[in-house]
Amino acid sequence: MPIDPHYETVIGLEVHSQLRTKSKIFCGCPNIFGAEANTQICPVCAGFPGVLPVMNREMVNMAIKTGLAINGTINNFSVFSRKNYFYPDSPTGYQISQYDLPIVEHGELFINPEGQSKKRVGVTRIHMEVDAGKSLHEGIVGASWVDLNRVGTPLLEIVSEPDMRSSEEAGAYLKKLRAILRFLEVCDGNMEEGSFRCDANVSVRHYGAEEFGTRTELKNLNSIRNVMRAIDYEVERQIDIIENGDTVVQETRLWDANNNSSRSMRSKEDAHDYRYFPEPDLPPLTIEQSHIDDIRARLPELPDDMAKRFQDEMGLSEYDAGVLTASKEMASYFEIANQVVTVAGKKNAKATANWVTVELLGRLNKNGLEIEESPVSATNMGKLVALIQSGDISGKIAKQVFGFMFDDGGDPEQIVKEKGLKQVTDSSAINSEVDQVLAAHPEQVEQYRGGKTQILGFLVGKVMQATRGKANPAMVNSLLKDKLG
Ligand code: ADP
Ligand code: MG
Ligand code: ZN
Repeated sequence: MPIDPHYETVIGLEVHSQLRTKSKIFCGCPNIFGAEANTQICPVCAGFPGVLPVMNREMVNMAIKTGLAINGTINNFSVFSRKNYFYPDSPTGYQISQYDLPIVEHGELFINPEGQSKKRVGVTRIHMEVDAGKSLHEGIVGASWVDLNRVGTPLLEIVSEPDMRSSEEAGAYLKKLRAILRFLEVCDGNMEEGSFRCDANVSVRHYGAEEFGTRTELKNLNSIRNVMRAIDYEVERQIDIIENGDTVVQETRLWDANNNSSRSMRSKEDAHDYRYFPEPDLPPLTIEQSHIDDIRARLPELPDDMAKRFQDEMGLSEYDAGVLTASKEMASYFEIANQVVTVAGKKNAKATANWVTVELLGRLNKNGLEIEESPVSATNMGKLVALIQSGDISGKIAKQVFGFMFDDGGDPEQIVKEKGLKQVTDSSAINSEVDQVLAAHPEQVEQYRGGKTQILGFLVGKVMQATRGKANPAMVNSLLKDKLG
């Protein structure tokens, strides 16, 4: 849908990511997903009077790791706040969070939206907080149930600056952030299971305006695709309101993916509605600089570093390097395939990158598959590229072989052997095909000799056809030229 060019979209995202700690944030209960309701809880989870929270060290370390990965400032001193609100799934009646002094501030992330160059998006802050339980309504008549298993799940809230200008940029931001969290192994990034949740803040303004417009906050976005669709819908809605002479109301809206629309949920609460105050049950958190330095020294290779390595060491384009580092699984697939090609003595990272990003990803997308579900293993992908590099098969035949591999699995060397697809480089075999083609097309031969040399392509095609694509095209070319010349 084309968006009115007189308006500029402004987007800021708030992401809640559940951390993969062994135990919950303030007690020793296991931090696992999918257990039977109310089996993973204790008096702390259930908000009994008199119990005290104890901060989970593993969570703090994960927050520091994440902060460092986005070039943020790690505050040596941060405090917890109590955010008061009542929901049936939160037995304490408040949420322990961070407010004035979060653990991380002033971070940044670089996004690679499709077809655009790299762009910086500021990350305002990352703070630690606790997740609530879940109210269950489905299949229950006249009542709601509450499952407290999720109470106490550690959350990082990652708040961006309002730096994004389109739904594509918002999608690219979420992809990059999720990749970083996964590379760090702090969050599994599963939006459907709710371990990576996004609220989108959206406003529009006239181009050139200095002030931001009034924003709305969109919730219930359980996939990147839905985030993008909800933003596009919201932008249209706000522009319509303004064009009609009305004003946008600051509110929270719920996205309805089935109906492709959103509805108002509540007017937006302000900070004072939550009566924040310093959490009396937890001391401020002080972190030694040496501890931060320690964690920094042990950070794994992150997507941007890896992409840079792919460009510098393998000569890949910025775009390909970005695609191949979109996830850990993708990167390791490419690295294994490339390794196979290299070991076979046919070092060609660009060719490997091309096969993975174009042929393989194209097919996977068409079939709705993720790289980790690829029917073609990384090793076999590498072998296929090596076969092309060694001249055993042409690029065209390789596409055929790849089709067989994708549909039925299997080793390309074996497929080539079994189906007799090896490129014919034996010149006497090609010679006889060339002779036959020349004999069968005297008119074209005449034309060529009369100066219409473009006709050569036609003759090459005929020879290739006769050999079912197996002849080495360069050889066919030169043999034909010899005989015609
Ligand atoms: P709250 O905590 O009330 O949701 P914040 O000030 O923390 O409010 O902002 C939340 C998010 O909204 C941030 O990601 C910020 O970038 C974004 N944001 C703020 N103002 C606007 C605006 N006018 N348009 C779009 N996004 C905005
Ligand atoms: Mg908010
Ligand atoms: Zn517990």
